[in-house]
Amino acid sequence: MSPLVFMRRIAASPTTPTFHDRETPMTTMNSPAHSASPYRLDLTAYARRPLLEGPTPIQPLPWPGAGSGGVNIYVKRDDLTGLGGGGNKLRKLEFLVGEALAMGADTIITVGARQSNHARLTAAAAAQAGLRCELVLTRAVPREDREYLENGNILLDDLLGARVHDLPGTANALAFAQSRADELRGQGRNVYVCPLGGSSPVGCLGYAACAAEIMAQAHAQGLRFSRIVVPNGSGGMHAGLAAGFAALGIDPRLVLAHTVLANAQQAHAATLEKANQTLALIDPALRIEGPSIVIDETQLGEGYGIPTDAMREAVRLMASKAGLLLDPVYSGKAFAGLLQDVRSGRHAPGENVLFIMTGGLPGLFAYRSAF
Ligand SMILES: *Cc1c(COP(=O)(O)O)cnc(C)c1O
Repeated sequence: MSPLVFMRRIAASPTTPTFHDRETPMTTMNSPAHSASPYRLDLTAYARRPLLEGPTPIQPLPWPGAGSGGVNIYVKRDDLTGLGGGGNKLRKLEFLVGEALAMGADTIITVGARQSNHARLTAAAAAQAGLRCELVLTRAVPREDREYLENGNILLDDLLGARVHDLPGTANALAFAQSRADELRGQGRNVYVCPLGGSSPVGCLGYAACAAEIMAQAHAQGLRFSRIVVPNGSGGMHAGLAAGFAALGIDPRLVLAHTVLANAQQAHAATLEKANQTLALIDPALRIEGPSIVIDETQLGEGYGIPTDAMREAVRLMASKAGLLLDPVYSGKAFAGLLQDVRSGRHAPGENVLFIMTGGLPGLFAYRSAF
């Protein structure tokens, strides 16, 4: 992949700084490994409430047979984030809750499916920030069993003190959330509404910061990754990483996403748009082009939240061979895609591939019957 062919610089002006000549203070990470890194993004213009302990570890997968094609698989442990059971949404929530607090909000409302990890982590972040939280959850996944409806994330939402609105699968959750917000505003409350998956451009900044974190760690560990493999649900993680890499002058095609929600075409369009909206927050002179967003649809199966045999195999293998827990909706399907791509030779022998472990463990309890 040749650098700098993946995007064009728009409205080029001699005063526009490039990533080469930026010298911005390192504000997001403080470890010596990071301060020595040339990979920095200045996101200090955006309010941020720290919810992570620091960089999450990158570890070699403790299971040499995983590749069986001579591929070196590494895992980035975004599941090892402490608050509310952890998971990838905490990176977005650092900026979302930061913005909510900066706006003086006293209440946060978000939307999702019944077993949304994002909803659970929003409830946790809100609890910790002293904000009230309401969750508008739809029965978008065709499941009526008690485990799906009552266990896993939904149990935790309740313990975390959130008020849950239970809507049918066909409902427009965001419209409901907006009208509920208006109702609360009428009562004098200051409400912050956060979209599906926390994937507003501001939320996506969390994964732009993660792109810099990954490059800094790879630099410090002397590693070069040929691919970073992720699930794509609401697309915010993928979009944020793509924006972060582009802002660092690195080809966003480094990221290979397995869609678990939309078909490839829709996921591509939505992710590209979000990536450019996010990039505009970092450097308005940059844009990402369509080919920079790489999405694979082979693991989607019958749709969002519906188990596949490949997902079951991936979750079982990762647990029984490496002691690591994937989730049934996102990371299980994405890791199934990685295994398939190793077996088919899409990832070549000797390559280093980084898989982002995104959390979602509570989902396993809602999907007991799937295993
Ligand atoms: C939300 C989520 C994802 C996908 O992230 P998006 O930004 O929505 O694409 C992946 N894994 C887990 C466990 C999640 O909860």
